Amino acid sequence: MNEVARTRQKLKELRELSIEALSEESSRGHVQELVELLNYHAHQYYVLDNPLISDNEYDILYRFLQAIEATHPGLASLSSPTQRVGSQPLDKFDRVQHAVPMLSLGNAFDGEELEAWYLRCIKGLQELFGDEVQPAVTVELKIDGLALSLVYENGELVRGATRGNGIEGEEITPQVRTVSSIPLAVPIVKKIGVEAPVLLEVRGEVYMSKSEFEKLNHSLASQEKKQFANPRNAAAGSLRLLDSTITATRPLRFYSYSVGQLEAESVPQAQHEMLLYLKELGFVVENNSQRCETIEEAISFCSKWAEIRDTLDYEIDGVVVKIDLIEYQNVLGNVSNAPRWAIAYKFPARETTTILNNITVSVGRTGAIKPEAVLESVQIGGVTVSKATLHNEDYVIDRDIRIGDTVLIKRAGDVIPQVVRSIPEARTGNEKVWRMPENCPVCDTPLVRLDDEADYYCVNTECPAQFIRLVEHYASRGAMDIEGLGSKLAVLLVDEKLVSSLADIYALSFEELVGLEGFAEKKAKNLLEGIEESKRRPLSRLFFGLGIRYVGKTVAELVVSHYKNITEILESSLEELEAIDGVGPSIAKSIADWSGVEKNQILVKSLAERGVNLSRLPEEVSSEGQSTAVSGKQFVITGTLSTMARSEAQQLIKKAGGKVTSSVTTRTDFLVVGEKPGSKYTKAQELGIEILDEATFASMIGI
Ligand code: NAD
Repeated sequence: MNEVARTRQKLKELRELSIEALSEESSRGHVQELVELLNYHAHQYYVLDNPLISDNEYDILYRFLQAIEATHPGLASLSSPTQRVGSQPLDKFDRVQHAVPMLSLGNAFDGEELEAWYLRCIKGLQELFGDEVQPAVTVELKIDGLALSLVYENGELVRGATRGNGIEGEEITPQVRTVSSIPLAVPIVKKIGVEAPVLLEVRGEVYMSKSEFEKLNHSLASQEKKQFANPRNAAAGSLRLLDSTITATRPLRFYSYSVGQLEAESVPQAQHEMLLYLKELGFVVENNSQRCETIEEAISFCSKWAEIRDTLDYEIDGVVVKIDLIEYQNVLGNVSNAPRWAIAYKFPARETTTILNNITVSVGRTGAIKPEAVLESVQIGGVTVSKATLHNEDYVIDRDIRIGDTVLIKRAGDVIPQVVRSIPEARTGNEKVWRMPENCPVCDTPLVRLDDEADYYCVNTECPAQFIRLVEHYASRGAMDIEGLGSKLAVLLVDEKLVSSLADIYALSFEELVGLEGFAEKKAKNLLEGIEESKRRPLSRLFFGLGIRYVGKTVAELVVSHYKNITEILESSLEELEAIDGVGPSIAKSIADWSGVEKNQILVKSLAERGVNLSRLPEEVSSEGQSTAVSGKQFVITGTLSTMARSEAQQLIKKAGGKVTSSVTTRTDFLVVGEKPGSKYTKAQELGIEILDEATFASMIGI
């Protein structure tokens, strides 16, 4: 069994154990194995920048070890990861001694643990500062990167070093000098009344933004090079390269958050002042930090950021809470590997590893085929996950995800869980490479991949799977909102051949419905009422409900605001559609293609026959501020305008909600005529289209 499989097994075993009930003798074996596994993973993480388990799984193992060592202190050894920081520096770099050790941080996993830490701090301060002591704290976002020490002597950067094992780090000055947000000399952007400090050691975090990380991995994949597991490893791996010219090409950034050594005329007395001081010196400081008078305030800061962490373009894995006053910090001091006066509040887990048992594919309403991972069930943040998305075939190939692999999965908020990557090191040799099937799993039609699209499609519009999704979509809340017609009923209606076109929904009878499984009279009656009601929905909802590729709700509303009814849309040319501001060539083509299919034309006719509203309702016409005379109207311009350029006139029409096309048709509402008009003028006259001279046009548009 490899180390990853052993780790997963150990986690399972430990979850069923009661640590307190274990004797010292039976704990010994667990300690030995935990130390071995944690050291193995720490090496993968710190030295090789290649973690094989999630941070949360590492933290759980670490906490078990801590708990056993606390119950049986005799079992704690010097080789235990609980006694050390990080790992030994790499031999390829020179080692440097940190004048002030660079420590790790203790963890709190919820508000209660944070409160307990705060009470311990108060207890530690009471003897010197009295029972009433109530220290303020600073809260700082915990950026998930790599700790760095930068030494400036007389204002000049002389050394950059990693944390290493906390006592000794790796000397990486040439690499550090390539990071553009690290000043080579103390900048002092705002005069603070002092010279650059004689000696200044700035500490902070080197990181890579999420978007830059995605770009880097994409480029590594296209060069068939190994990708990084996450932004933290990408930052660490990029910084600890012997060849600093490669580091220079990597998009690294730096946030400073504290000082190690400082010899200056005046020295900040509190952590929040320290951040301000660093900022005034010209270093980049993360700007969401805050000073909190109470621990409750700090806890709500942590809860807020756990919710909104994804709004940032850099990964944060928690909040660092620090006792604000340096005097208090000095009194509290350190334990072996972390300060007592600071703690990392870790956000709830979103990632874990599990086994990918199979990959299945499903057919969406537009025929897009989506691969889906069938997983060994696993808990993430209290939710059991057994399925996750794999997006498309390229996603699976780029990440070399195989059936049977151990995979890292992520679940963020309401987003569908996704497989982030595979862990090849955990392979046994029995894994199977997966490729998209050649034919649709439902109707067996050969699948097609369009140029520059990642998805494969089943192009059979009669494909039952597609049609079921379409019925579901048509009846959904944002579309025709037919109460009671959800995914289960869609399957039933299609399977029972009661619905084989969207128009059939309106032909369903009470007798047919009560004959269906699970349909009592009341349910049938309610459904029929819901169907009847849907006939009066606005045109944009119907247009969206038709399931035309790229036509989402907003596009549907936009298109409908330019036409009076569905027939006009169907008869509209590609050029006319493209002329709508906000409708690009792909959307226009998709609508035009759909309209060109005879089956779709028949569908629209049948919907009309069954009494479904196919005309724009008055409230769909114009959005705020648009001139109703112009909004939704089609303009053609001919001749040279004397007061404005033609492009300007076009912009003004579009801004007012109108549309400009280049040729005169029966659907043209106005022809704007300048000097020396062309043949369009005659054509418009023939068709009886309203002709506007420049002045009339100008007043209509409101200029
Ligand atoms: P840590 O990351 O939990 O906390 C300390 C670090 O936080 C500091 O060194 C610093 O780099 C960083 N930090 C960010 N913002 C900060 C701020 N404002 N103030 C102070 N520090 C700030 O501790 P660690 O010792 O670096 O790493 C331990 C953690 O690493 C574990 O809890 C685990 O999540 C992860 N890990 C994962 C694996 C794995 O296999 N997945 C292996 C080893 C460690």
